[in-house]
Amino acid sequence: MKRAHIEPFFATLRAANPQPNTELEYTSVFELLAAVLLSAQATDVGVNKATRRLFPVAGTPQAILDLGLERLEGYIKTIGLYKSKARHLMETCRILVEEHGGQVPRTREALEALPGVGRKTANVVLNVAFGQPTMAVDTHIFRVGNRTGLAPGKTPLAVEMQLLDRIPPAYLVDAHHWLILHGRYVCQARQPRCWECAVAPYCGYRSKSPMPAKT
Ligand code: SF4
Repeated sequence: MKRAHIEPFFATLRAANPQPNTELEYTSVFELLAAVLLSAQATDVGVNKATRRLFPVAGTPQAILDLGLERLEGYIKTIGLYKSKARHLMETCRILVEEHGGQVPRTREALEALPGVGRKTANVVLNVAFGQPTMAVDTHIFRVGNRTGLAPGKTPLAVEMQLLDRIPPAYLVDAHHWLILHGRYVCQARQPRCWECAVAPYCGYRSKSPMPAKT
């Protein structure tokens, strides 16, 4: 994608969705952290189903600790890898209570020191909860970045660095949401819906999909 096309690419995405947000449901920074931790290799819809029951009962680190591992597993057992996620969440809650006064820390270093919290999760929390211009590269953003030519890279970190370098500052804070939603609903993995894609004029993908024939 030519640099000159990046601004109109994001202006178009912003015009269609001026205030994008994560599709994970949460009512506090801690619930956001817990939901993102649970969402690795799972869908937001699946995580929301579980946390709609969990968070009203245990929506703070201390409440999760009080719940105990077994009952926590019971709430999240519909989510893939729930056993290891439950262990990580319990240990994360212990550290939050013992070292951070029950609050979610605001720095990358402290976030990435929490069990089950990697660079991507830290980026989501820093961006969504604290408004920092970070770029959490998930499978959708990795694909959209490479396919459109916006941010080609062989690894998520390479794509992240390209995005941070190439996206105009005015779009950086919300870019992560626009790209995820675009990848989830339009620039889909198996067949991108190029025929109805609003940013097609700016996209560098050479094999754009034609509209499927009616059957
Ligand atoms: S034109 Fe096609 S490949 Fe390009 S962003 Fe849109 S859906 Fe994706």
